[in-house]
Amino acid sequence: MISDVFCKIINGELPAERVFEDDDYLVVKDINPVAPVHWLIMPKKHFEKLDDFGKKDVELLGGALRLADKLAHERGLLKGYRLIINEGEDGGKLVPHLHIHLLGGKRLGQKIVQD
Ligand code: 5GP
Repeated sequence: MISDVFCKIINGELPAERVFEDDDYLVVKDINPVAPVHWLIMPKKHFEKLDDFGKKDVELLGGALRLADKLAHERGLLKGYRLIINEGEDGGKLVPHLHIHLLGGKRLGQKIVQD
């Protein structure tokens, strides 16, 4: 894993193309997009992984999903999109700050696992 660059982006120590920001969430464009739209939706509060969300944090996690859907509709992804969370080594997770990938802007292939 690489260091938590997302905390640095949230704190303004590193630049990023911001799509949306409020008190709880930051959404940025992925630096290495794999689709015409590739955003990263992250809670500002640091959670490394899903297992770190306690019961009181579940609302924050659900809010990230609602925000994804709201932004997708507002920004014209009317034909759909895909959300992905990579977890752990086998999941290919690189940045240890929980984030949701939002992919869209084209018809995505059905195959989401590459050999
Ligand atoms: P994951 O941890 O879910 O495997 O993926 C991390 C994602 O963060 C990758 O898609 C990668 O391109 C993106 N990423 C890594 N470093 C940066 C960065 O400094 N800025 C931005 N905007 N995206 C980054």
